[in-house]
Amino acid sequence: MKPIIGITADVGENNRQVLKDTYVKAVIHAGGLPMILPIGIEEEVQQIAGFIDGLLLTGGGDIDPTLFGEEPHQRLGDVEPARDTVELELFKEVLALNKPILGICRGLQIINIAAGGNMYQDIYTQKEGELLQHSQKAPTFHASHFVQVEKGSLLESLAETTQIKVNSYHHQAVKDVPPPLKVSGVASDGVIEAIESTTHRFVLGVQWHPEALVQKEDVVSRRIFDRFIEKSQESRNEK
Ligand code: MN
Repeated sequence: MKPIIGITADVGENNRQVLKDTYVKAVIHAGGLPMILPIGIEEEVQQIAGFIDGLLLTGGGDIDPTLFGEEPHQRLGDVEPARDTVELELFKEVLALNKPILGICRGLQIINIAAGGNMYQDIYTQKEGELLQHSQKAPTFHASHFVQVEKGSLLESLAETTQIKVNSYHHQAVKDVPPPLKVSGVASDGVIEAIESTTHRFVLGVQWHPEALVQKEDVVSRRIFDRFIEKSQESRNEK
């Protein structure tokens, strides 16, 4: 039996909940069975966490800054409190069961906030120094900037190198990363691009969008999904 991968939905227009097809395809391609998790199921996260074998936290809008003790900055974008709630709850329940979690873009930020970390609400106005273009104008399947990968990290074991190229669609980034999380990838301007858990089976957050790069046969992106699904299978087999 394939591992069941819960994938969190985003809010769309006209009262819709939406999910980009690239997430679904990347999970299917890696051998997982995707199940879309809607916003509004926060009362049932315990049941869901027991049912799924892995959790994929997807990209989307900004996170409510009051969740990490800050007032909204003037450059804060769209916030969907109901989505924040369900994703934070899902993360906590799935982590408690030590099931694999992959966070992409906003998903990485959810992992960090759930663990007690904080973030830049807008890197361009809040982070010092001259920054790279993190909202790339190139197509999504184009890797536009470099990321330095920490030696000895889970990410390095996937990348098999200490420098990779990624795509970039964010104006926010995580700031302080609390244990048991650690930083495993950084851009040349110091923006944190990847975090992971040092104690769990598989908890990885990436600021870029590997689900868009797998279309272009990007080896590191493929390996991220392959390992995530492999670990989810391992978790399922232990049931
Ligand atoms: Mn970036």
